[in-house]
Amino acid sequence: MVNVIIGLEIHVQLKTKSKIFCSCPTNYRDVEPNENLCPTCAAQPGSKPFGLNKTALDNLLKIALALNCRIRDSSIMQRKHYLYPDNPSGYQRTSKPIGAEGNLGTIRIREVHIEEDPGRYELREGTVDYNRAGIPLIEIVTEPDMRSPEDAREFLDELSAILGYLDVARDEPGSMRADANVSIDGGTRVEVKNINSFSGVVAALAYEIIRQQNVVRRGGKVIMETRHFEEASNSTTTLRKKETEEDYRYLPDPDVPPISVNRAHVAELGRKMPELPRAKAARLSKDFGIRPEDAWILVAEVEIANLFERMAKRAIPQKIALWIRGPLKKQLNYRELTLKRSGLKEEWLSELFGMFEAGEVSDKGMEQTLIALFEKKKSPKTIATEMDLLMTKDTKEIGRIIDTVVEGNPKSIADYKAGNEKALNFVVGNAIKLLKGRADSKLVRELVLKKIKEKK
Ligand SMILES: [Zn+2]
Repeated sequence: MVNVIIGLEIHVQLKTKSKIFCSCPTNYRDVEPNENLCPTCAAQPGSKPFGLNKTALDNLLKIALALNCRIRDSSIMQRKHYLYPDNPSGYQRTSKPIGAEGNLGTIRIREVHIEEDPGRYELREGTVDYNRAGIPLIEIVTEPDMRSPEDAREFLDELSAILGYLDVARDEPGSMRADANVSIDGGTRVEVKNINSFSGVVAALAYEIIRQQNVVRRGGKVIMETRHFEEASNSTTTLRKKETEEDYRYLPDPDVPPISVNRAHVAELGRKMPELPRAKAARLSKDFGIRPEDAWILVAEVEIANLFERMAKRAIPQKIALWIRGPLKKQLNYRELTLKRSGLKEEWLSELFGMFEAGEVSDKGMEQTLIALFEKKKSPKTIATEMDLLMTKDTKEIGRIIDTVVEGNPKSIADYKAGNEKALNFVVGNAIKLLKGRADSKLVRELVLKKIKEKK
C-alpha cells in the first residue's frame, strides 16, 4: 500500500452584491466583457480601494466558525506580486489569516483568509476581461491530513454542503477552485494547480498518485514542481519547476486599512449559525429512525434535508428517505441539478410520492411523471392524467385487454395448460404492456388465470 499525503487549498467565491474593494456589481458572467469596472478594480493610477467589503468579511467569518476555527482579532491585507495579464495592478490583494487552527471532522484546517479574484485572461485570443477582478474570494488551507482521493472527496462534499447551508458562496461552475499538494511514501511534494471543480480534485489526485508511483517504479525521483490539471484528459502536466514564497514579495498594502474583527459580532454570528450537515444527519437519523448512510445523503443539500423533514411528518420516514435518495436524486444528478436549482416545488414532490404510495401510479409511471415534472412544472396528478399514467381501476377495460390477449395467443395458453409456467408469464406480460403498466401485475395475473379457466 502506497502511503499518500494530501493537503488542499480551496478557493471559494463569496456571495456579495458588490466587489471586495469597490461598489461594482459582482454578476461577472451574464454581462459584456469589462462592463463592471471602475478605476479601483481596474487598478488605474491614483485610484484607492474602499475598505474591505463587510458582507465578504461576515461570510468568511461564518465559514471559519463552521470550520471550528479560532478567529483572530485583526488581520491585514498584503500585496502578492506577480505579472500576468489577468492582474491589472501587478499584485493580488490577499489577507493574512483571519481564521486558523480549525477542523472539519478529522481534517485540520490550517487557516482561512480573504483575497480578490483576478480577471480572466483568454490565452488563445489574447483578450482579458476584468469583470471578475475584485470578486471576493476566500482561501481555505487544510493541513496535509488526507490519505486518499476518497478522503478528499468526503471532505469536499461536506465543505460544499456547509457552504450551501450558510448561503455565503456563489453557486455556479467555476466558483470553487482548488490546488492540491500530494506526495507519496515520504517523497517530494508536488502541487497541482488550477483545478476548477471539486470533482476535478478527486480526478487530479487519482492521476497524480499513479504518476508519482510510476516515476518511482521506473527508478526515478519525484521532483518538486507545480503541475497543471488538464480537465479534458483528467491528467496533470508540468507548469513550472519549484517556486518559493519569496517570489511573490509579500508586502502590507498601505491603501487598505487593517481588518479588525469585533468579538461581540463574532459571538453573534456564532449564535445565529444554522444547524450544520453533520449535526443534522445525526438528528435526522435519531429522530426519524432512518439509516445513518441515508441521512448523510439527505443532508448534502439543505433544501433536500428540509424536504425530507417536512414530508416525513406525513409518511413513513425510511420510505421517503429511499425515494429521495433513489428516484429523485437520480433525476437531479442526471440533469446536474440541485433541488434548489431544479425549480421543483415541495408540494409537487409530496403529491407524487403520495400517489406512488397509494398505488395510483406504478413504479414506472411514477418515474415517467417525475421526468415530465422537470419540464412541465405543474401538479403531478395533472401530468399523470394527461400522459395516461394513472393506474386503472376500470375492470371492464382490463377485462377487454385480457380477452384480446388470451384469444390472441392460443399456443401460449395451450403450452401453459400443458404445464409450461413461462407461457403464462408471456401472456400476462403482454397484457401489462397493452395496459401501459397502468394495472397491478398481480391483479392482471389473477384475471388472466380466471379467463383461462372460464374458457375450458
Ligand atoms: Zn470596481
